[in-house]
Amino acid sequence: MSSLKGLNNKSQEQESPEETAINLTRKESRFISLYEEATALDWEDWRWQLKNRITTEEQLSKIINLTDEEKAGIDGCGKKLKMAITPYFASLMDPKNPNCPIRMQCVPRGAELITSEEEMTDPCGEDKDSPVEGLVHRYPDRVLFLVSEVCATYCRHCTRSRIFTEGRKKLGYKSYEKAFDYIRSNKSIRDVLISGGDPLLLSNEALEHILKTLKEIPHVEFIRIGTRVPVTLPQRINHDLVKILKKYSPVWMSLHFNHAKEITKRVKFACDMLVDSGIPLGSQTVLLKGINDSSSTMKRLMHELLKIRVRPYYIYQCDPIVGSKHFRTKVSTGINIMENLRGHTTGYGVPTYVIDGPGGGGKIPISPNYIVSYEKGKCVIRNYKDEQFTYTDPA
Ligand SMILES: *Cc1c(COP(=O)(O)O)cnc(C)c1O
Repeated sequence: MSSLKGLNNKSQEQESPEETAINLTRKESRFISLYEEATALDWEDWRWQLKNRITTEEQLSKIINLTDEEKAGIDGCGKKLKMAITPYFASLMDPKNPNCPIRMQCVPRGAELITSEEEMTDPCGEDKDSPVEGLVHRYPDRVLFLVSEVCATYCRHCTRSRIFTEGRKKLGYKSYEKAFDYIRSNKSIRDVLISGGDPLLLSNEALEHILKTLKEIPHVEFIRIGTRVPVTLPQRINHDLVKILKKYSPVWMSLHFNHAKEITKRVKFACDMLVDSGIPLGSQTVLLKGINDSSSTMKRLMHELLKIRVRPYYIYQCDPIVGSKHFRTKVSTGINIMENLRGHTTGYGVPTYVIDGPGGGGKIPISPNYIVSYEKGKCVIRNYKDEQFTYTDPA
């Protein structure tokens, strides 16, 4: 009889997506006294999340035990890249451990105020490849379109931190028009990558205006959105947004995950909504010292991404942005990680490791060397176990 219990129970009824999201939030979020007054409904409201971002040392000290190194970082970062962390992302931080991978990505540290000789404000040389405001046209058939200069949470390793610096001219709608004209008049552009800042912090209306205008250009075959919102503000991925994205299909999305700890049930819920609406998801990961620079940490991240249907796309060598020395690893670290992925795990879980050529070289793939020798039509290659094989070219 007991097995029948609950058959007519209310809990058997299907939960609405909103209820599921709220229940996930309740289960997963660490209680943060700073937001004592907030309800689960507030917490699920992305505008509430933005309005209540942590931006001061005083607020942050109520959530985590700040180290002197972190305090120095917060004191000095304002002129460079200010601190802002969504309550959701902050709830994932370890209050005691300063080496928490979430914490290291969004809490400034004193080390970021130090500039090393090789560091630059625009390490990828984007500004010199910008034909009109807001566009970077580097490759023959695609452009990068920067539509926003805000992010939900500022990543301390940001390669584009220069656009958040105080006093810089804001982009705004006017610059969109110039960019649209440029894309319209360049028939070779078949792929537009919308990024920023974070495009998903625009209103639905503004985002739809961009998607609609691009979709009307006959030679634009598809649109990509580069965003970290599903990771730091998954509440933004709601029904209305997904409906818009679906309307302008094909839209692909590049997310930015750096550690398995970022893949919560709430994040999976947001990614499910996107994938179920036909939006293919990829992840771009930045190789970061102390965060993901070991083969086991990186492999675990790749596995967790596959589980939520996000295809690892790139691992980036951390760009030599000003104040990034404490984040950057040697190139050999990246090569070693790739050596430990390829062959050792699912091919779908092996992204391409790239260095954006400092000064404006674009993405250059870096790989362990699998060619032992290639002479007189004989290509001697090695596999992941270091066994050698010879492929003979057709005569
Ligand atoms: C990364 C990037 C792209 C897109 O490159 P893909 O390899 O096609 O993903 C386009 N333009 C610029 C300037 C870029 O930095």
